[in-house]
Amino acid sequence: MGEMDGLSVTACERCPELCESRSRIVNGVGPDDADLVFVGEAPGATEDERGEPFVGRSGDVLDDALRDAGLARADIRITNCVRCRPPDNRDPTDEELSNCREYLERELDLLDPEVIVTLGKVPSEHLLERDLAVTKVAGSVEETRIAGTPRRVLVSVHPAATLYDPGQRETFAETIATAADLSGVDTGDGQARLGDF
Ligand code: SF4
Repeated sequence: MGEMDGLSVTACERCPELCESRSRIVNGVGPDDADLVFVGEAPGATEDERGEPFVGRSGDVLDDALRDAGLARADIRITNCVRCRPPDNRDPTDEELSNCREYLERELDLLDPEVIVTLGKVPSEHLLERDLAVTKVAGSVEETRIAGTPRRVLVSVHPAATLYDPGQRETFAETIATAADLSGVDTGDGQARLGDF
């Protein structure tokens, strides 16, 4: 059904439509002991092409916000709720989310992060297991259980939301700053680590 090697899924055919639309499985990237983990929805076209999450325009927005908060990509791990690109960028179905959940749970168990940031509606609702008005609750920290383990989830708007709604920029920036604080990742006393860029 599926195989995992450490944090990476190496073979899986659980979702027939996604197996058709993907060109590869896109696993999470970043340190295997990251204190801060970002969870997105699913790979898009650029991610599918390059085999990495958040590398298109949304990735640039995320990188900028990380830098402003004194963080770098190298400090964090980024992964997705489903690891294969849905056709025509549609949302993953409930069945696909549930098919892939075991891998996400295993990844979170192995990482054991201080905080999990959910980027947008789909990952926020998936991990908190309830309906949410993400733009209203963005920046709030929720205590939940994931695979039986207590976890701290910080709800965030999707980085792309800041592109079509500039009003979301501040919310997003504040959320990433909160993420940096909660994770305890050394941000060099608030100074951006420019050497990393
Ligand atoms: S999305 Fe997840 S469960 Fe579905 S085929 Fe890809 S790796 Fe497997």
